Amino acid sequence: MSNFQPVRGTRDLVGEIMQSHKFVSDMAGKIAGFYGFDEMATPVLEFASVFQRPLGETTDIVTKEMYSFTDKGGEQICLRPENTAGIARAFVSGGLQNMQPCKFFYAGPMFRYERPQMGRLRQFHQIGIEMLGVADTVADIEVIACGFAVLEALGCANRVTLEINSLGDTESRTAYRKALVEYFLARQSDLSPESLKRLEINPMRILDSKDEGDQKLYEEAPVFWDFLNAESRAFFEKVKQGLTALGIPYKENPRLVRGLDYYAHTAFEFTTKELGAQGTVMAGGRYDGLVEMLGGPHTPSIGWAAGIERLAMLVGENVPAKPRPIAFIPLGLVAEKKGLLLVNDLRQRHLRVEMAYEGNLKKRMKHANKISASHCLILGEDDLAKNEIQLKNMDHGKQIAIPLGRDVVDNILQKIGKV
Ligand code: ATP
Ligand code: MG
Repeated sequence: MSNFQPVRGTRDLVGEIMQSHKFVSDMAGKIAGFYGFDEMATPVLEFASVFQRPLGETTDIVTKEMYSFTDKGGEQICLRPENTAGIARAFVSGGLQNMQPCKFFYAGPMFRYERPQMGRLRQFHQIGIEMLGVADTVADIEVIACGFAVLEALGCANRVTLEINSLGDTESRTAYRKALVEYFLARQSDLSPESLKRLEINPMRILDSKDEGDQKLYEEAPVFWDFLNAESRAFFEKVKQGLTALGIPYKENPRLVRGLDYYAHTAFEFTTKELGAQGTVMAGGRYDGLVEMLGGPHTPSIGWAAGIERLAMLVGENVPAKPRPIAFIPLGLVAEKKGLLLVNDLRQRHLRVEMAYEGNLKKRMKHANKISASHCLILGEDDLAKNEIQLKNMDHGKQIAIPLGRDVVDNILQKIGKV
């Protein structure tokens, strides 16, 4: 006897969970389509180096969370922890530069070795959009607006807060980094060992630290806004004006940083108070330096990613019910044989028809109720003798007979809406 369980931090998607995941990703894909984003998919397997350098050697993802391994050919491979670097890799390796701007939507599984808890899994799923090749603020506004529209379509826009910040251009970030290093150097004895390392390699990551001591320290730390140069300020203003013009409410949060090296200017998150510690449902920003890091040309880009599990929890009961089936109940061998063809014809007309496979009429009716059939088609011996079939509405029990003639399928289709 085996006692197999799913791997820790992974789960099977069945029934309502699968339905809510599908609802989130289908709706997001549909809304993203209105904004001109086409779906694309990159492989789950990538060379580990696709993430190592761009994500930076000091991020949690790279140091602790990556599922990486050496494959049988000796290659360093990983299960993708996120999809932005993979799409930028595809942009470079697939020669997509000729079709700029590239606008992509994706949905799929991501993998991170972290401590599983509510809203945090080792295999989780993300939807996201990426726009590669637009430097203008119109891209930032459109990408955020699309994210907001997705949340609206899922019925949770009024339960999330959009927080935005600017990380400025390279000049502004250099000035800020210098001030930050000075501030933390003077307080290094209070920093966590991890943040001490960050101080040397990438001090801005300290702002992303989950350590309480570090968090206390950076309450008093210099704020990004004081170091934004005139252009970066103007850029930020234009983004905010665009959001206001579109009626998208936002809150400025000077502490919001995207811990990754390649981010610039706009950083944003949609957060909620309804999911405890795992409150960020959608996160994104401008990553002007990423494509270059992967060996491509300078390509200003922006996008966001959202966790499907967290969105599915927020959506909760709002998932539309699946269409009710029609149950087919044949009684006797002849009816079963005849029914096989009729059911097939109905399915070819795109009706969801379920066979009530076994047992007497009572047992089969019970099954029809269990699958919440809207109607039953009953074919008994009497019906066969009269060359007709019974259509029964399962909500109020009304039943009519339909002749088993050549146009029986058309007749059934027509009566279903009326009986
Ligand atoms: P967190 O701070 O919660 O760890 P993050 O900054 O690592 O999030 P991103 O890399 O920005 O997250 O991913 C974008 C979104 O993907 C998150 O806002 C969240 O909704 C979802 N997400 C990230 N990691 C997980 C996970 N392990 N399980 C479920 N969802 C996740
Ligand atoms: Mg994380």
